[in-house]
Amino acid sequence: MEITKIFGSNVFNATVMKERLPKKVFEEVIHVMVHGGQLSMEVADVVANEMKDWAVEHGATHYTHWFQPLTGTTAEKHDSFITAPRRGKTLLQLSGKQLIMGESDASSFPSGGLRATHYARGYTAWDITSPAFLKEGSTGPVLCIPTSFVSYTGEALDQKTPLLRSMQALNTQALRIVRLFGNLEATKVNVAVGPEQEYFLVDREKYLKRRDLIYTGRTLFGAPAPKGQELDDQYFGSIRERIGAYMKDLNVELWKLGITSTTQHNEVAPSQHEMAPIYETANIAVDHNQLTMETMKRVAYNHGMVCLLHEKPYAGVNGSGKHNNWSLSTDNGVNLVDPGDSPNDNLQFLLVLACMMKAIDDHADLLRASAANAGNDHRLGANEAPPAIISIFLGSQLEDVVNQIVDHGAAATCLHGGKLDTGVDTLPVLNKDATDRNRTSPFAFTGNKFEFRMVGSSDSVAMPNTILNTIVAEAFCEAADVLENAEDFESDCKSLIAKLMKEHVRIIFNGNGYSEKWVKEAEKRGLPNLKSMVSAIPCLTSEKSVNMFEKFSVFSRTELEARSEVLYETYAKVVNIEAQTMLHMASKHYIPTVISYTTELAASISTVQDACPEADVSTQKELLMSASSLLAQARSAQLHLQTVSAKVNAMQNVEEMANAIHDEVVPAMKALRAPIDALELIVDKSIWPVPTYGDLMFEV
Ligand code: ADP
Ligand code: MG
Repeated sequence: MEITKIFGSNVFNATVMKERLPKKVFEEVIHVMVHGGQLSMEVADVVANEMKDWAVEHGATHYTHWFQPLTGTTAEKHDSFITAPRRGKTLLQLSGKQLIMGESDASSFPSGGLRATHYARGYTAWDITSPAFLKEGSTGPVLCIPTSFVSYTGEALDQKTPLLRSMQALNTQALRIVRLFGNLEATKVNVAVGPEQEYFLVDREKYLKRRDLIYTGRTLFGAPAPKGQELDDQYFGSIRERIGAYMKDLNVELWKLGITSTTQHNEVAPSQHEMAPIYETANIAVDHNQLTMETMKRVAYNHGMVCLLHEKPYAGVNGSGKHNNWSLSTDNGVNLVDPGDSPNDNLQFLLVLACMMKAIDDHADLLRASAANAGNDHRLGANEAPPAIISIFLGSQLEDVVNQIVDHGAAATCLHGGKLDTGVDTLPVLNKDATDRNRTSPFAFTGNKFEFRMVGSSDSVAMPNTILNTIVAEAFCEAADVLENAEDFESDCKSLIAKLMKEHVRIIFNGNGYSEKWVKEAEKRGLPNLKSMVSAIPCLTSEKSVNMFEKFSVFSRTELEARSEVLYETYAKVVNIEAQTMLHMASKHYIPTVISYTTELAASISTVQDACPEADVSTQKELLMSASSLLAQARSAQLHLQTVSAKVNAMQNVEEMANAIHDEVVPAMKALRAPIDALELIVDKSIWPVPTYGDLMFEV
């Protein structure tokens, strides 16, 4: 397999454009891609026609404006290239106008009240910075044009528009910072993102026997298997044949799309794995991550498996997340979050770090909210994923520098890595990093990037990056406002760094984020601990947030209110589907099975006693007693769940509904699960109505 030939073969990228477009047209496209602005219609026509020809040569008959509505997934409506027949003949066409914008009925996408259903128009606009690509599937290859999606009145109805706005805001402010340090060549500061994607694989036959997996993507019932992840034998373990074949195909499919799938390994939980691409510009990384998730599912299907992207498919073992690696670089090659060899002397880095500390401390709640979804409520703070409390891990080298600055106003020294000798003569002596890793921190500095580890595995990384970009833009803006007027730049800059670090040092935490001690300590420090999605949503519309987002033109107040509404609504719907699925499974699968089981037990007791009155039937009786008592508990929990669910669903206000679901429906679901899981351990496996955790996780 020649990777270099496969790589990007389904992408209308700069290389293809350079080959196919007239030089002037190509240059205009690149100029707009890099510096913004509008393409002239003549140029758009040429690009569109060439894009169509290229797609047709690759077997495409249709194109689509591909966008990311607030459903969390992507949307596409295919149109063919054919024109109305003339004298019985039809031509293939894609005009510049069709490339640049689309108009469609947006009424069935979540809008959070941004648009009444009777005003249904939505517009898609070409994101020229993210290359068009061919998506393969049973329909044949379809030309996908990445787009933004906005309402008739120009409000963002998608994930991409605010992200692009935030990148623009951060670029403007970060350029002010690098200019302060005399960098006049840079014309742009780019946000780079590398999202590590965790996932589970399950055999499709078994999956199809579980209504909970089908409807909700996670198991709502299930007793633990005798073995879980306690032996640590799965993490980085050798990859089994079936999984290896899957990973191989997945790589090829991703490479065709120009996605640099690079890292692959087994994750901690049984049947859990990870793929990480090489980082790239934020909006492209977001598009690629959406495509990655879709491709993971499609390839799994071809291998007789299903890819579970849910944050918590199984109780009792780790769930899945997405580590969002983030850095900032100028177009003349300076990474703003790279400390270099001696960070204590690197004034630009220290200013950036101080600004990051301020941004994360001031807006910890927003960052937490950006990773909120119903699935992540099962992970955050559950000792397998970062806690719900935001803090920054800097590692010993930078922590030491920050402490010196906080205590003395400046850092005279810095720790260095040194050598690592294994004690074996034949092994190389290693150069050790100045800092160890920490895996419990939600926001960790990892060498030359920050890693935001809270994001859920099924979520788009758009919102986390939109928020991160905006809060950092704000901190940069405030710093630049002060320093652009400095009389003595170096001394004023040092004072500002010391001031910011002193004010925000409480956000630094290098210890164990899973410990109870940290929860108490964080509370003392006044750091927010937003334990659930519903408790995180309100911060999106606080005055502080609205002012910031409006100042940097990332979200308007109306857009933020709409997004909160969509989040509450989505939460309520997701949990409601789970509750309905539980009720269905309890009444159609579990309760009838347990009734048959107890009936059979009872019959066997009578039969044995009739045949042999002296025989000891105490075991059968004991089992019958336990099963009957658990059955009664299950029935009463089922009725209770039915009642609270009906009550909550009658509520009109989505915020109240979402809160009631969190406070009443979720505990009622847990109460129904407990007796059924206990019954699973008693009832004969041959009649248990669904595959067990052991079947699902260990027979893939
Ligand atoms: P880990 O060892 O933390 O699991 P991985 O190798 O799985 O790390 O993933 C690290 C991710 O970080 C990759 O997607 C990688 O491309 C990305 N990354 C590396 N350097 C940068 C950077 N400077 N900016 C943004 N992302 C980066
Ligand atoms: Mg990784």
